[in-house]
Amino acid sequence: MKTSLLTEKLIGKYNLCSLFGHRFVVTKKVNDHFSEYECPVCKQQATNDPIGKKIMLTSELKDINETLFYLRLKKEFLNHFYFSKKE
Ligand SMILES: [Zn+2]
Repeated sequence: MKTSLLTEKLIGKYNLCSLFGHRFVVTKKVNDHFSEYECPVCKQQATNDPIGKKIMLTSELKDINETLFYLRLKKEFLNHFYFSKKE
C-alpha cells in the first residue's frame, strides 16, 4: 500500500522524463553551433556543447549563450549595414 501510493506520487511529469527522457524543443537558436532547448513536459532547460551533446542549462552557460547570441546579432548587423553598402 505504502509503495503503490509512493509510486503514484512519483509517476508525474518529472518521472515521465526520467523514464523516457526529455522531449527537448528549440527555444532559441544562439548561432549555427549552439541552441537552447526546453522540455515542454517538465520545463527543464538545456543547451548543447560543442560536439552537439545536450547539457543542462546553467546560469553560467546561459550567460555564455547570451554573449554568443549578441555577438551574432552584432555581426549580422554589421554585415547588413556595412557590407551591403559596398555596391
Ligand atoms: Zn522533461
